[in-house]
Amino acid sequence: MDFSLTPEQIEFQEKVREYSEKEIAPKQKELDEKNDFDKGFMKKMGDFGWLNFNIPEKFGGTIKESLFGSILFEEVSKASASTGANLDVHYLLSEALAVYATDELKEKYLPRLATGELIGAFGITEPHAGSDAAAIKALAVRDGDDYILNGEKSIVAGACLADAYITFFNVAPEKGYKGITAFCVEESG
Ligand SMILES: Cc1cc2nc3c(=O)[nH]c(=O)nc-3n(C[C@H](O)[C@H](O)[C@H](O)COP(=O)(O)OP(=O)(O)OC[C@H]3O[C@@H](n4cnc5c(N)ncnc54)[C@H](O)[C@@H]3O)c2cc1C
Repeated sequence: MDFSLTPEQIEFQEKVREYSEKEIAPKQKELDEKNDFDKGFMKKMGDFGWLNFNIPEKFGGTIKESLFGSILFEEVSKASASTGANLDVHYLLSEALAVYATDELKEKYLPRLATGELIGAFGITEPHAGSDAAAIKALAVRDGDDYILNGEKSIVAGACLADAYITFFNVAPEKGYKGITAFCVEESG
């Protein structure tokens, strides 16, 4: 089996490497020292069309083989581990929506996640539930047409810059982990 990259993948790798080395890496040390972040890195990657590889065309994406995502994460992470994590969790939100959401939710979020207008993140971990994600205790309680979400999430990568999250709450605790449901929520500002 041939594991070498195709010419298109090599060209993409070179572009990401050039952007990461020239634009991200020189600023990252100072950002780390200040415990700060730059939302502009994600926005720029949205402008380049690098945030849409898992989004169907009808929702503004360009479905690409998962290797393109791997190349992107690898090259960006070499320059900035935190921006690599931002990318990873952004893709976790769009992937979950692209695969499981209703068309209404897809239309609402995917085009904006594809361009980077919205930056995504992922929240499942709780202080007492890490590897054992089924042990989460956060609850979602029905209130008319809405749900009231109550609980505590921790280690949410990119929470400082995210506009929308996929996050997990239990809607039927009497069913144990089988009551766990994913919600897409927007940052309230
Ligand atoms: C950099 C970083 C970014 C993260 N980003 C996110 C994020 O964006 N969103 C999010 O929801 N979560 C995030 N997490 C949390 C992550 O997904 C894990 O859930 C978490 O790190 C593991 O939980 P814990 O740290 O509480 O360790 P624990 O689950 O308490 O594990 C502690 C140790 O016990 C071991 N262990 C656990 N269970 C078993 C077992 N059954 N048998 C044997 N050994 C076991 C583990 O391997 C580990 O060595 C992030 C974590 C890191 C480090």
